[in-house]
Amino acid sequence: MVVELNKTHLDLSDKVSAEKLMAFTAEIAKEVRLSGSPEELRAFQYVKGELDALGLETALSFHDGFISLPLSAELQAGGMEFPCITHSMSTSTGNEGLDGELLYVKELASGMEAAGKVVLTDGIATPGGVQMLEQAGAIAGIFINGSITHEMTVSRVWGNPTPETKKEFPKIPVLSITEKEGAQLLGQLARYGEPLKVWLKTEVDTGWRKIPTLLADIKGDIEPEKFVLFSSHIDSWHYGAMDNASANAALLETARILMSQPMPLRRTLRLAFWSGHSHGRYSGSAYYCDSHWEELHEHCLLHVYADSLGGKGAQILGESNCMAETRDYGGSFVEALTGEAFIGKRFGRGGDQSFWGPGVPALFMGLSEQPQTDDAASRTLVKLFGGIKSGGFGWWWHTVKIRSTSSTLKTCGAIAKFTCH
Ligand SMILES: [Zn+2]
Repeated sequence: MVVELNKTHLDLSDKVSAEKLMAFTAEIAKEVRLSGSPEELRAFQYVKGELDALGLETALSFHDGFISLPLSAELQAGGMEFPCITHSMSTSTGNEGLDGELLYVKELASGMEAAGKVVLTDGIATPGGVQMLEQAGAIAGIFINGSITHEMTVSRVWGNPTPETKKEFPKIPVLSITEKEGAQLLGQLARYGEPLKVWLKTEVDTGWRKIPTLLADIKGDIEPEKFVLFSSHIDSWHYGAMDNASANAALLETARILMSQPMPLRRTLRLAFWSGHSHGRYSGSAYYCDSHWEELHEHCLLHVYADSLGGKGAQILGESNCMAETRDYGGSFVEALTGEAFIGKRFGRGGDQSFWGPGVPALFMGLSEQPQTDDAASRTLVKLFGGIKSGGFGWWWHTVKIRSTSSTLKTCGAIAKFTCH
């Protein structure tokens, strides 16, 4: 359905305040918001307070979420120690760590063989990549991300575990390193040849936590039971100003503008703020779907999702996610407000897209994206998010300042943990 934007649409869009958006973003991003943490809850309470002040009906509730927080990682080979990170839903090795022979596989493929090996590979750590490693018999995976490491979850299980999905959680430890450490490891392989022994250790805190969900309705006047769900996650990797405070700010600014204009809505707009996105593979939105299935099926007309909006230099708005049935509708707004042709992009399996089961059409996710550039970070992110022109969310997406570790081994005891060929 193509929409002709009328004066009401344009007047509303003129009311968007850049200052308000920046102020909301700064407030939400002032703390690191790990799922289920007190810092995250303070961000939820701030958002609730802003919405309460506008006069919305809000509800903050808590439920059990299966949450996984990476704590620390170590990697040693050939007498060197390599800075590295581990990932949400990776296994923990325990204090003794894990020894193994390194095998370099440039590109993972199903059907590959890596029995008993620690596989070193290029790319970002993804659930699909880890599944291929497990099927190949690898005992651990090390991903060479690019110029910087990117936080990821490596589980393919959607939301909380069930008896059926419990066995699908990753069974191996997973690390990521930058291309600098990748080149050093490959250099060792070239120098010493295979087998090159490596030692690695991961510590990941995985378990049940109480996580929050915040809902806020702007009630419709004519069909109040029918609603559009407009959602974003509040939890973050690190300070997450862009992922996802800026998107949370967009929801707050939408509420501010709609509550300040005199024309009532025909149907309800339901704002939803999730936890458990980054560290529970969408356990917040998945739980909401499971516990509100009938209402979603009967009354939810559309799910609009906001993630990682408004990054510096993010000029591409025409390649956001959509479904066939929402493409023309969403594209009408993008084209009318930006002049950019809307191409759209098929949804992948990610990003709180928890509502396809009840038959809810979906529109948008990362609405503003970076142009592709010819550097390692862009090339890596293009594989995950890229489209025709778009290169994803920028090098800083899910980044961490790598924990500093000495490039030489600190103790003789540590030397005993590996043997080099
Ligand atoms: Zn996000």
